[in-house]
Amino acid sequence: MEITIRSERILQRIDALAQIGKISETGVCRLALSPEDREAVLVVEGWMKEAGLTTRIDAFGNLIGRLEGSDPLAPAVMLGSHIDTQPYAGRFDGIIGVIGAIETVQRFRETGFVPAVPVEVVSFCDEEGCRFNKGLFGVRGMLGRLEEGELERTDRNGVTRREALLAFGGSPDAFAESEYKPGAVGAYLELHIEQGPVLEAMDRPVGIVTGISGPIWWTVTMSGFAGHAGSVPMSMRCDALVGAARVITGLKELASREEGAPTVGTVGSLQVFPDSRNIIPEWVQFTVDLRDIDKERRDRLEAELRALIAEAAEENGLTYEIREDTVSDPRYCAERIMNVISEAADGIGLKDTPKLMSGPFHDAMEMSRYCDYGMIFVRSKDGISHNPAEYSSPGDIAAGTELLYRTALVLCGRAASQHPGMEAHSSLKEA
Ligand SMILES: [Zn+2]
Repeated sequence: MEITIRSERILQRIDALAQIGKISETGVCRLALSPEDREAVLVVEGWMKEAGLTTRIDAFGNLIGRLEGSDPLAPAVMLGSHIDTQPYAGRFDGIIGVIGAIETVQRFRETGFVPAVPVEVVSFCDEEGCRFNKGLFGVRGMLGRLEEGELERTDRNGVTRREALLAFGGSPDAFAESEYKPGAVGAYLELHIEQGPVLEAMDRPVGIVTGISGPIWWTVTMSGFAGHAGSVPMSMRCDALVGAARVITGLKELASREEGAPTVGTVGSLQVFPDSRNIIPEWVQFTVDLRDIDKERRDRLEAELRALIAEAAEENGLTYEIREDTVSDPRYCAERIMNVISEAADGIGLKDTPKLMSGPFHDAMEMSRYCDYGMIFVRSKDGISHNPAEYSSPGDIAAGTELLYRTALVLCGRAASQHPGMEAHSSLKEA
């Protein structure tokens, strides 16, 4: 493999960030908009300056570094990810994307490459969403996609996002000034750990993402009638948990039916009322998470799941309610960017780099609504993420960063002739 980026510098920076909010040997807790998050953002800002970027923290708390191109008015190429973490996290999720993006620009400068178009490196604010229960805050803000009441959401200590954002240095009253106009960015690239076991199973260091499967998130409530577990005959019961169990196992069957398909279905949270060993469960509430990169198949499975819930309710004498919490469509990567990544991989001696979809969402999912995007995945050991045991090897991270660098080189050199990137939306494969 031919590596030209500075692998030691990347590792040093990963290690330096892992010291901020450190909770164990490899564990990190750096919640969005916390003092640790701010400390880390300032460190990253220092590296951006070292790489020659002009930096700013926008109204949403995003850290943005910009390098002008020979045509300052051309749509920029944006590289980014996030450095906030889950409460019990590792040191790679999001972080390698930000550090890799800075490395890319730093190599531009060190090798004397002058990009034809502006390059922006972004460390997006609050991708994870665990503190205020809603993620992708910074990127949605930048694209004018915040929802009503987001600033009033509170964390578990009662602190509102508005208060946290103010303390962080954001400007909740000046959002409009930080929104990007259409066409300001022509392409978005993100390097990220896979957070799953696919690349490891294939024994490959990196992969090219084909798209991000948007999740369907539901909260389902099934209601029956409580009764004494010792006296109500089986034929007369309206047991909500029996109905829910049928749905849970049925979802597993639906999601595994098509062999080789990346469909996944999960019930991850379940509440039983009144939750007593000698009372027949009166109501049950559970979450559904259904994902697929193929929207048609997902729609079909969604319809089947609705039918299954109706059937399970009917059989057990229950009523039910389905609340749709989130329904986002799959977002496909731009063919032209996947091709550039693929050629870059060939160029460093990684033949037939595998293509795979992303089950988790990323900042890129939101950017896909604005411009063409591409993503590079780095192998995750045992597929573990959101856990201090999360690990990607220095060699794999170097390979991923090298691909990011080489892809950015092409996009930043070529984009000038494609001026002015307004084809962005039309080339997106809408589902
Ligand atoms: Zn992430």
